[in-house]
Formats: sequence, C-alpha cells, structure tokens
Amino acid sequence: MKNITSFIALYLFFNLPICAACVAQMGSTLSALQQDETWGVNANCGEAERRPENNTLEASEAPVFSISVIPDSIFSLMQGKSYKKGARIMRDDLRYLRISHYDANGRVRVGEMICNKAIANDVISIFQELYKAKYPIERMELIDKYDADDEMSMRANNTSCFNYRVVEGTTSLSAHARGMAIDVNPFYNPYVHTLKGKRVIAPEGSAPYADRSKNFKYKIDTNDLAYKLFIKHGFRWGGSWRSSKDYQHFDKK
Ligand SMILES: [Zn+2]
Repeated sequence: MKNITSFIALYLFFNLPICAACVAQMGSTLSALQQDETWGVNANCGEAERRPENNTLEASEAPVFSISVIPDSIFSLMQGKSYKKGARIMRDDLRYLRISHYDANGRVRVGEMICNKAIANDVISIFQELYKAKYPIERMELIDKYDADDEMSMRANNTSCFNYRVVEGTTSLSAHARGMAIDVNPFYNPYVHTLKGKRVIAPEGSAPYADRSKNFKYKIDTNDLAYKLFIKHGFRWGGSWRSSKDYQHFDKK
C-alpha cells in the first residue's frame, strides 16, 4: 500500500467499518504500515482483544484482518507454553494477528495467530486472498490452547505459526520458534520424515493423507492457492524438501 487512496480502497473492498478514531488516525496508520510498526483495523479502535468462545462472524459483520502488538492478556497466556522461559525472541519482534477465514462448512470465523513482525504484512495479504477465494481453513487458534503441543494442534487441524520449539526429533530450533513459519491445515498436510530409520507421519492418524497421489479436501500441492500465494510472498514450502516432506509448512528466512 503506497498511498492513502489504496489504503481507503482496501477498507472499502472489505467493507470494513471505519470509526471516527480510525479516520483521524488513518494518516498515521498509513505511515505506520509503511514503517512496519504496530497497526490494525481493530487495534486502532482499541478492539484487539480476544473473542475466545465464539469466533464465528455473523453474516452482517465485516471481515477482520488486523495486526497489533501482543496484548497483555494474550502474552500472559503464552507464558510457559508457546513463549517459553529463556526464549531467544523478544515480545516486540512478534505480532498478534486476527484473520477472517472460511471454515470447512463455509462459515466465516475469526482466527488468531502470533507471527514475527517481519512477515506480518505478508501473512495478512495471503490470508486476505484466501478469504476472497473462500479457501477453507478448518481452524486458526493460538497453539497455547493446545498447551503449545504441536502434535495436539496438528491433530486438531489447527493452522498456526509461532511456537518456541525445536524441530521434532532434533535439537535445532524450528522456524516456528522465530514466528517465521506457518503450518496450514496440518492434519491433511502431514509431516513425513525418517526418525531412527523409521518413516514417521505426524500427526497421529494422518497417514492416509501422506499419499499425495489422492485428492482430498485441504490438500496443498503446487496447484493450490495457498501454495501459490506463499511462494509469491517469498516463502518456501516443506512439500518441496528432499529428505523429508512437510506438506503443511511454509517458512521464510
Ligand atoms: Zn511447520
């Protein structure tokens, strides 16, 4: 977004509500956007709080695509879960996103995600395009809801990003630990790798979806819109790796 016109056009395109405070702040928000500072459609209106119980939007509500610093309430629930003691990433390097998406039943939901501020604008752009295409994302909840247990999150087919953890079966920090990787619909796009000579498919129960010659809902391949958008924004896809296949995974260096 290079100018105020395109910023307003974005609002109008998504039929977003513009409160008086937002109008007043639009100029400063625009410059904040360009400087990769804190911003957010709702954050500007002071509405960056959670909607944990019912995150389904009513038909009359406008979609939400916002970026804000991590609110205190969210940061405190991340403690000891996705944000572990000694984590070598600063809170200020991370952002809290709220993202409207269609679920498997065609209902609009507002998801939540923590990611690195370096990719926050990319992530919003990608998920705006996915929203326009009604691309199904079964759920998008903070992984803290699963006690930051990646296996549990994957089993729930939960799309997520930041989690301060190592790569499964290794001592290396994952790109998720920097908030630079996103796993999309992971149950149907499993992680297939070799551990102590054995082929492992994670999460448990996802083996039928390791056969990529089949067609099924949520499948990511090189014809898939999510794949195309992430690649366009400079991410790489785990499904292209040689030694293992992580079909759910997109990351950026
Ligand atoms: Zn991943």
